[in-house]
Amino acid sequence: METIAKLSILADAAKYDASCASSGVKGRNSLGGKGMGSSEGMGICHSYAPDGRCISLLKILLTNFCIYDCRYCINRKSSNVQRARFTAAEVVALTLDFYRRNCIEGLFLSSGIIQSSDYTMEQLVEVARSLREDHDFRGYIHLKTIPDAAPELLALAGRYADRLSINIELPTPEGLQQLAPEKNAKQIQSAMGDVARHIQLAKQEGRSQAASSIISLPGSQRVRRARPPRYAPGGQSTQMIVGADDASDAAILLTSSGLYGGHGLRRVYYSAFSPIPDASADLPLQAPPLLREHRLYQADWLMRFYGFAHQEIVLPGSGGMLDLELDPKLAWALAHRQHFPMNLNRAPKEWLLRVPGLGVRSVQRLLMARRGRSLRLADLQQLRIATAKVLAFVELADYHPRRADLESPLLRQQLLQRMSHGVVQQKHSGMRLPDMGLSAKTSQLSLFD
Ligand code: SF4
Repeated sequence: METIAKLSILADAAKYDASCASSGVKGRNSLGGKGMGSSEGMGICHSYAPDGRCISLLKILLTNFCIYDCRYCINRKSSNVQRARFTAAEVVALTLDFYRRNCIEGLFLSSGIIQSSDYTMEQLVEVARSLREDHDFRGYIHLKTIPDAAPELLALAGRYADRLSINIELPTPEGLQQLAPEKNAKQIQSAMGDVARHIQLAKQEGRSQAASSIISLPGSQRVRRARPPRYAPGGQSTQMIVGADDASDAAILLTSSGLYGGHGLRRVYYSAFSPIPDASADLPLQAPPLLREHRLYQADWLMRFYGFAHQEIVLPGSGGMLDLELDPKLAWALAHRQHFPMNLNRAPKEWLLRVPGLGVRSVQRLLMARRGRSLRLADLQQLRIATAKVLAFVELADYHPRRADLESPLLRQQLLQRMSHGVVQQKHSGMRLPDMGLSAKTSQLSLFD
């Protein structure tokens, strides 16, 4: 099979993996060989670095053959799809070719499992090794790792890759048992733990070496030492499929919270299940609403940046599900009106972060501004805070909302009406969110945050 045909199959097969933060770019592609500059169709995805720089990645599978039969996966053993396989050398050559032509700045490589987990992992590691050692490749490498591969291979993978990810696949061990019985939840967690330990160790080595190389005596020279070996400096991430089993949003957030806390994950990606051809009867016939995935991302941000605990976000009486009509921060505020209006001149940072309409940056600006003066209504505009979004929940030196308005059962309806009149809902929460094709502006997930 020609390389271009393989590329077409293996790039398409990789698109189901959300864990490299592919972009929400839409509308342009060169499928069918027409046009140029496409960001789709041949496995180029985009992500954002912490400095806001857009990074293009070649996103492909080594192969879409697989000896496993995970029910939700298009590449499962029993799936009737066209198969293809690259050699490690072919992936290296392709990456270098795209890189030299300035099409990409890195590689996201995953694979179905061929022969055995160790064999597959060896192939993935060989691609990264060859790029780094044979070709001095300095671009970004994200390797998907196989949880039951030998620990030595995981250790090696992190030496070459910037980021590693191990898919948790489903929110609960029961879901995994039902839909991917060849996988083992404990083994996945254990592999994540191993990666986390390697990352931690590499950081500690780096810190202690930096400390020991500083000599402050007059006339002394800074001692130069070899750099400690690096290990996945971009951390590890994972992906969870949403809506393939009956796990509630509460169960999903509980798992995510455990992953962030237990293994120090940089990101958990949520991927709404998409129905696949010849699907097992265990799977739902319909995809969950995309909005559910979006709400989970919003809830995830509340946990990571806004100080919310996972159990606070899904409200009592909701059947364990997030409100699809309202973003979770606004839904929380409406369910906890006793905490509002929040006094913007006195409330501590952790409470300001709970005000719908205030994001992390606007809270920082507010805290700075109120050091020098008592904030008034007019200051909000100066601080670039959209007043229409926050006024229901705050008070200022010259602004005191009526208690009756805040307590009104009509408030939710009023906010919904305002949103349906073109106010982008995510702005109500003040959260900077990944664009899932729902907001007016395009924003991106970051590889690193
Ligand atoms: S192991 Fe991975 S590629 Fe293979 S069937 Fe399961 S999810 Fe798909």
